[in-house]
Amino acid sequence: MSRLFIPGPTDVDPAVSRAQTRPMVGHRSQEFVDLFARIQPKIRKVFQTENPVLVTASSGTGLWEGAVKNVVSERLLLLSCGAFGDRWYDVAVGNGIPVDRIESSWGQPNTPSQVIDTLKNKNYDTVAVVHNETSTGVENPVAEIVQSARSIQPELVIMVDAVSSLGGVDIKPDEWGIDILVTSSQKCLALPPGLAFASVSERALKRAQSIAHRGWYFDLLRLEKYMKRSMTPATPAISLLNALDDQLSRILEEGLEARFDRHSKMAVFIRDWAAERFKLFAAEGHRSNTVTTILNTREVDIPHLNNFLAEHEMVIANGYGKLKGETFRIGHMGETQLSDLEILIGRIDQFLDLQSR
Ligand code: PLP
Repeated sequence: MSRLFIPGPTDVDPAVSRAQTRPMVGHRSQEFVDLFARIQPKIRKVFQTENPVLVTASSGTGLWEGAVKNVVSERLLLLSCGAFGDRWYDVAVGNGIPVDRIESSWGQPNTPSQVIDTLKNKNYDTVAVVHNETSTGVENPVAEIVQSARSIQPELVIMVDAVSSLGGVDIKPDEWGIDILVTSSQKCLALPPGLAFASVSERALKRAQSIAHRGWYFDLLRLEKYMKRSMTPATPAISLLNALDDQLSRILEEGLEARFDRHSKMAVFIRDWAAERFKLFAAEGHRSNTVTTILNTREVDIPHLNNFLAEHEMVIANGYGKLKGETFRIGHMGETQLSDLEILIGRIDQFLDLQSR
């Protein structure tokens, strides 16, 4: 079994994994209500929000779909700077949502001026942006983007994907004015895949009330109505919720500040190493604290490198999509520690040495 240095799924602490083996309970039982009620205040703390945080049995993509279906009444403006922004756009198109996309070239962030220029020239009621673009290792300046968008159009509903950053990077949805903030369980929260989360503001819920066809499974109003009674409309992923209950306590025990600091230190460490041996793909000043995308300037055979790492029970990620081979990625999120990265880097250096002989 290899230690995961890929940008999700991440390693799960064995005690958290074991929580999934607790005896099953009925989802309409008092035991379940107690479990779901315990989770809500903890997940709100991790999200740094006073708003409800919806929890679904799906990956993050499910709540992407729910978000676009529930709040876009006229037209969506979607900012993309990589593969996941592009995929969110495809999800909107696939749901018949009127949408325009602003693209930044891969490695560059989306910018406040892109939003300002576009909103001045055309009407939109919803904006969507990815906080941490996992394909390129770019962190977008979301606080500034949200502020700029609101300065043009105060009533916008603004949705942010924080799938590969929430729980590892400081994001303040209430302070920044984010209406819907989506994440998945398998990244910085260090849980198995299968749960998705979205905080939803009053403004987002109000907008949803004006939308006739919100879908059913990801109907935000239905999810919120049930959540108020610590229930879910359909059968929840009870085993995963047991793991979530424990992992949220662990995260809060570590402390959010300490967790953000750990992620930041890991990112600096990997970036320094990568800049010395290779080149960094993401633009300076916009580099992710959870995943580093490295330009493969030495033309290393990445599958070959991974075969070598596998002998030492470790795995990294190749470049994403069109960046495969040209780049590779190291994930440093979740429960990963600086000491784990030191071991990884030692092995990669060993591989590079062997290659250069
Ligand atoms: N958004 C980003 C930034 C991602 O990295 C991913 C997956 O890697 C997704 C969305 C899709 O999330 P999921 O695989 O949980 O559906």
